[in-house]
Amino acid sequence: MIKVAINGYGTIGKRVADAVAAQPDMEIVGVSKTRPSGEAYIANKRGYPLYIADITKKAAFEEAGIAVAGDVEGMLRQCDVVIDATPGGVGKANKALYELYNVKAIWQGGEKHEIAGISFNSSCNYQDAFGADFVRVVSCNTTGLCRIIKLADEAYGVKSVFATMVRRGSDPGGIKTGPVDAIVLNPVSIPSHHGPDVNTVLPSVDIVTTAMIVPTTFMHMHVIRMELAQEATREGVLDLIRNHPRIGIVKGATGITSTAELRELAADMGRPRGDLWESCVFEDSVAVGKNNELYLFQAIHQEADVVVENIDAIRAMMKAADTAEESVRMTNEALGLKAI
Ligand code: NAD
Repeated sequence: MIKVAINGYGTIGKRVADAVAAQPDMEIVGVSKTRPSGEAYIANKRGYPLYIADITKKAAFEEAGIAVAGDVEGMLRQCDVVIDATPGGVGKANKALYELYNVKAIWQGGEKHEIAGISFNSSCNYQDAFGADFVRVVSCNTTGLCRIIKLADEAYGVKSVFATMVRRGSDPGGIKTGPVDAIVLNPVSIPSHHGPDVNTVLPSVDIVTTAMIVPTTFMHMHVIRMELAQEATREGVLDLIRNHPRIGIVKGATGITSTAELRELAADMGRPRGDLWESCVFEDSVAVGKNNELYLFQAIHQEADVVVENIDAIRAMMKAADTAEESVRMTNEALGLKAI
């Protein structure tokens, strides 16, 4: 069994913890929090040993009725690999600690590529992470872009990409960010950082991205245009998507045209926390223009799509599955992910 620790049991960390616990070849040795919270109670309830970043706060946890197993160093002594899911920018400071305890580490998209030197997406570059000590799983938006661009590139060759991200203002549990009543250009300058981030995984793709933030909490929406090198048909593209293990199709017949209806669908499917780990391409949006341009809308559940990528990154680094296909199959089966 691969022993996994989660440093930062928040939006992403708690989901990765549950996904790890569901795998037949992995176990959770601990999760960490900085202060008593609802999530800390749940960690106890789920039986995950809870470690804390600052051991002087142990009494505060115990007064709140939350059992503490020790400090983060104690957690690191027990694991093969640590998932750093601390807030963006915080993970960098933890690298020395991971080196000290000689554990493999996976950071999230809030950190820079340079922290690990390998930016990961299981549909694109599983082998780059094979046996590696440090890996960064790219952000939710970059994950969604990488999956669909790689698919189109392998089948037709992609000459260029233009994509606009309409981003959620906050996660559903957030209370500190907005906007409440605005469309915010994020950034106002073009391009946004997402294109260069795609290039950390797919270096040769010619991509320009723009982004804006809107007052919603569930999912980002991508508007994508790709210039293809070879002739494509709409049906051909839809077939490719249907066969992808991490891209689902929102069928036209469902009548679904919004993220709100997707949230309802995910809940009705019985997904934990209503999570959509797959990218959600709207069937009726897929179109091929007369100059072989591919157009589509895809919705990306920001809290969920990177979770399954973290699981595959663990297997690649631990050499626990030889190929991406094998790891993706195991991860999907353990979670019950059959793309919509
Ligand atoms: P979050 O704020 O929800 O959770 C972070 C957790 O880390 C919290 O539980 C916090 O208590 C804990 N923490 C803070 N400082 C710590 C420290 N020094 N040691 C240990 N734990 C500490 O953040 P999140 O949204 O889960 O983001 C985590 C990472 O995932 C970031 O890099 C972010 O950019 C990336 N990410 C977030 C999303 C998203 O939509 N939320 C999507 C993809 C990637």
